[in-house]
Amino acid sequence: MNLKSLIRTVPNYPKQGILFRDISTLLYNGKALKYIANLYYNRYKDKNITCIAGIEARGFIFGAIIAEKLGIPFIPIRKKGKLPCKVFSEEYSLEYGVDTLEIDVNAIDEHSSVVIIDDLIATGGTALASTNLIKNFNASIYECSFLINLPELGGAKTLEINNFKVHALMEFKGK
Ligand code: AMP
Repeated sequence: MNLKSLIRTVPNYPKQGILFRDISTLLYNGKALKYIANLYYNRYKDKNITCIAGIEARGFIFGAIIAEKLGIPFIPIRKKGKLPCKVFSEEYSLEYGVDTLEIDVNAIDEHSSVVIIDDLIATGGTALASTNLIKNFNASIYECSFLINLPELGGAKTLEINNFKVHALMEFKGK
């Protein structure tokens, strides 16, 4: 299936110079969702993965369908202030300013083998902050996986330099 053709590209959104890769149009295609769930199922079914950690918000959609298919827990990595429990927090830089991601301190343990899922990797700041959250548990990270990699923004390289395995279903050139 040609997944790339299902992604809508919106120039200059949310601001001038950004090519926004919109997964909404892929979500509207039920066959594509099933196809993606199967791809991931086959990739992880024999790898002793114990949970899927999805990054808010679009990582929740794909993370949850993968976790369901594998029959393993889905762990939400949430934006600051959303979890009603004790959390680990990780601040990371955005183009302008900083943001914070959080995870429930009881979500996983040191025996966990985690796959981190998000829709897209650009600079890698969001994904790297997520790996730092998982490090708090001394759990192992099997890999970080994305539907879309924007290689020119260098995020996948940054993760690899930090010794994380990176996987993506598709790549788009340009920023
Ligand atoms: P980064 O931390 O720079 O790797 O940015 C990744 C996060 O920002 C992901 O959660 C994406 O959903 C979002 N994002 C960054 N750049 C784009 C883009 N060009 N199109 C769509 N989403 C993007």
